[in-house]
Amino acid sequence: MEKGYIQENSSYVSVENFLTGGRDDEVRREMFFVDYMLNHLNNLIFVANSEHRFVYVNEPVIAKYGYTKEQFLTMTIADINVSCETEEEAKKLWETYERDRNIIFHSIHKDAQGRLYPVLIHAYYVDYEGERYNFGVVEDESYIQKLLDAQDGFVILTDGKKLVMGNKKLLDFFGYPDFIAFNREHQCVCDFFREEEGFIYNKSKWITEVNHARHNDAKVKIIHPQTQEAHIFLVRAAAFDSIRSLVTFTDITELERYKNELEHLAITDGLTSLYNRRYFNQILPQEINRAKRDKKCIAFIMLDIDFFKQYNDAYGHLKGDETLVKVAHTLKHYFNRASDFCFRLGGEEFGIICTVNSPQESLNQAKVLRKAIEKLEILHTKSKISPFVTASLGIIISDTTVCEDNLYSLADEALYRAKETGRNCICVHNNGCFLPEAD
Ligand code: GH3
Ligand code: MG
Ligand code: MG
Repeated sequence: MEKGYIQENSSYVSVENFLTGGRDDEVRREMFFVDYMLNHLNNLIFVANSEHRFVYVNEPVIAKYGYTKEQFLTMTIADINVSCETEEEAKKLWETYERDRNIIFHSIHKDAQGRLYPVLIHAYYVDYEGERYNFGVVEDESYIQKLLDAQDGFVILTDGKKLVMGNKKLLDFFGYPDFIAFNREHQCVCDFFREEEGFIYNKSKWITEVNHARHNDAKVKIIHPQTQEAHIFLVRAAAFDSIRSLVTFTDITELERYKNELEHLAITDGLTSLYNRRYFNQILPQEINRAKRDKKCIAFIMLDIDFFKQYNDAYGHLKGDETLVKVAHTLKHYFNRASDFCFRLGGEEFGIICTVNSPQESLNQAKVLRKAIEKLEILHTKSKISPFVTASLGIIISDTTVCEDNLYSLADEALYRAKETGRNCICVHNNGCFLPEAD
């Protein structure tokens, strides 16, 4: 069994030497038992002198902290206690402790490898032969960290934003092997925040807000290592003239992905992957307003496949579906700018909203589209107007005076006229007239 060390005449001697140092047997025997027992406790026992230099540590301390006894006896409490940010802060803390004598407090200890442990310290101050000693019984509270590990990532920061400790979930989230590596590179978790609308879009403003609040709830986007999203919750506590903030991280990357997927599904047509009717209803008023703001024209094109009932009857519903997908791809191909929106409005009927600089621009695009559909050369022997699948288009191109209701009905009416005119053609609504458009 390793034995502890005891300070004698300003040097350190082992308990064994101390015991065989010519003292009387009774004292020697008692010292042996005290040392034996202290070494067999689960508790970590430290004794420091008034300069906070260790004069005794028991065996569990040596086993846990990874320093040799010799090293320990040259160290001070500040070498293992990392909870104070400044020496000034530490000094104040010790003054409080010495004044109150017997106290219990939470702290953070660091071992020889730089690993951090949350600890609970029972400190007793004793005066002995003109010297004051601090007798500390320390409990490792890492189990608290383990408990928290089972939940979210967390980090504790001082008010100066120094990171005091963090758990494994946090390290995993940011992609670091251990807290020391994390701490070496980053002074503040805010280093990782990407400023973005909908998340934290102004970091310094956010930090100011946080500094005035006890609790703060926020969604953040994290830059590193991949873009991840987190929900953070911040709690601030003040004691002993210092402030600590606890930040918990809930990784919402998956949750946000599911949310985005759901949102995408809600506005997408399952067969063609174009936007659906629901999204059309949502986007039409928005685009009308945008065109008004930008002083541009808005065009709405309605497209309906010709004799599609006959196509289904002749080639079957599956082939019909394939044709719908091909037509949809053609729409997307020719209307692919950010301001173009292609919809499957229902059945074999499609819609396109586009913002253009001039009416002629969208009309030209529509003409190209009509020809492109015929050029797909999808055989349709039952069509009365072409050997291939064709479509009829109705268009309304409007300046800024139009409202969403008549935009839809006027385009629908233009489409009806295109069907009446003979199909596989375009009809344009123009100031109350419906004009078939020549290629
Ligand atoms: P018109 O030239 O006047 O447009 O004639 P049409 O036969 O295309 O018009 P109608 O509206 O009478 O028929 C539309 C057909 O579209 C009816 C239906 O069989 C077919 N259809 C609607 N939705 C789907 C679909 O999702 N898949 C398939 N394969 N066919 C569909
Ligand atoms: Mg049709
Ligand atoms: Mg139809």
